Amino acid sequence: MDRTKCVVVGAGVIGLACARRMAMGGSEVVIVEAADAIGTGMSARSNEVVHAGLYYRPGSPQARLCVSGRDALFAYCEHHGVACEPIGKLVVATDEAALSWLTGVRANARANGAGELEWLDEDGVRALEPEIRCRAALHSPATGIVDSHGLMLALLGDAEAAGAVLALGSALRSVSVTPKGFALGIDSGGEATRLECRFLINAAGIGAAPIAQSIDGLRPESIPKIHLAKGTFFALSGPSPFRHLIVPDVAVQRAGGIFTLDLAGRGRFGPDEEWIAEVDYGLDAGRAPAFTAAVRRYYPGLDSGALQPDYVAVRPRRNGPGEAMADWLLAGPREHGVAGLVNMCGFESPGLTAALPIADAVAAMLLADADADVAVTGAAAPV
Ligand SMILES: Cc1cc2nc3c(=O)[nH]c(=O)nc-3n(C[C@H](O)[C@H](O)[C@H](O)COP(=O)(O)OP(=O)(O)OC[C@H]3O[C@@H](n4cnc5c(N)ncnc54)[C@H](O)[C@@H]3O)c2cc1C
Repeated sequence: MDRTKCVVVGAGVIGLACARRMAMGGSEVVIVEAADAIGTGMSARSNEVVHAGLYYRPGSPQARLCVSGRDALFAYCEHHGVACEPIGKLVVATDEAALSWLTGVRANARANGAGELEWLDEDGVRALEPEIRCRAALHSPATGIVDSHGLMLALLGDAEAAGAVLALGSALRSVSVTPKGFALGIDSGGEATRLECRFLINAAGIGAAPIAQSIDGLRPESIPKIHLAKGTFFALSGPSPFRHLIVPDVAVQRAGGIFTLDLAGRGRFGPDEEWIAEVDYGLDAGRAPAFTAAVRRYYPGLDSGALQPDYVAVRPRRNGPGEAMADWLLAGPREHGVAGLVNMCGFESPGLTAALPIADAVAAMLLADADADVAVTGAAAPV
């Protein structure tokens, strides 16, 4: 059976950042990816926003890693020639009732260190975005957008330059805990192969919870339960009426009212929120009227028929319908009790923004693993 120091499961943005970090720290790394290309999961279906850290619960892993990730990501992209721009975001209260929500967002953002924020009244908003009708808004100039695929290619390039090997079309099927680490059963294009490793990093996105649940010996409280939320996106045809990203109050968000731009200047609305039992990427164009109604809450000029079906994403969530947003499960040996293993479950937004410090945190968890027979270097991988 072949043996390597570290196996990373999943070649999305977080798996690639972890592979890069471990390889640059001196570990021999194999990335196993079920699909035939990198970045076809959540990382290909995000809003591509570099979040400033406005919404996440202060002290949560999302809040901490988002704020450090934002700065690290801007620096990394500049250094590696990946397109990334701080175009700014407006968080809008569409009516009087949403003002207290907006005040709460501001307090939360300040507690998180989310950077500069400006409170704008209706006239202030109109000076920035003449098409918007709302009661007030928060302007976050530190929020940006990134070319997520360019970022993943850069991370993979760094990882491979440091010796990491990418195995596409290779699905992890089984994990056995052994005295020296893990014995993995892998399906490589229909052929069953075996691979042993000392460190196992589970960054399989929506596939991460089933993998974690299959590993013997995890403390019961660290075995993740995950709910799935489907999100549909509609593209806006024609030139964008906005220069900023727009995030309306929660009910309007959930109905599809978030507006984001890509680096080519194309606008899109979404995701909305639909709880599902099984992974389903089917796009229901019949959701367009609900999107139109939501968007018109702050953009009354939206033409009927301007929305085109775009794509669907599935978010793994630790909270279910009607429950408060739960934290990510970032669990290393100290949390779950299995040496050499890190599980990452429920890693939806802001995982793209936070990918670089997530990778540092994962490496630190393995380094701190008292049973580790081979150390990972403690130095952070340079940008
Ligand atoms: C709708 C939506 C919008 C988002 N918007 C933003 C945003 O604007 N900004 C932001 O910061 N974050 C955003 N996020 C969050 C961000 O996209 C994710 O946190 C991040 O992409 C997760 O990366 P990942 O590598 O963990 O997972 P993924 O990108 O899903 O990659 C997991 C990989 O694992 C592979 N895999 C699964 N099972 C196996 C197996 N058994 N064997 C081998 N490989 C396997 C999959 O094929 C996949 O390639 C958004 C997420 C969603 C869903």
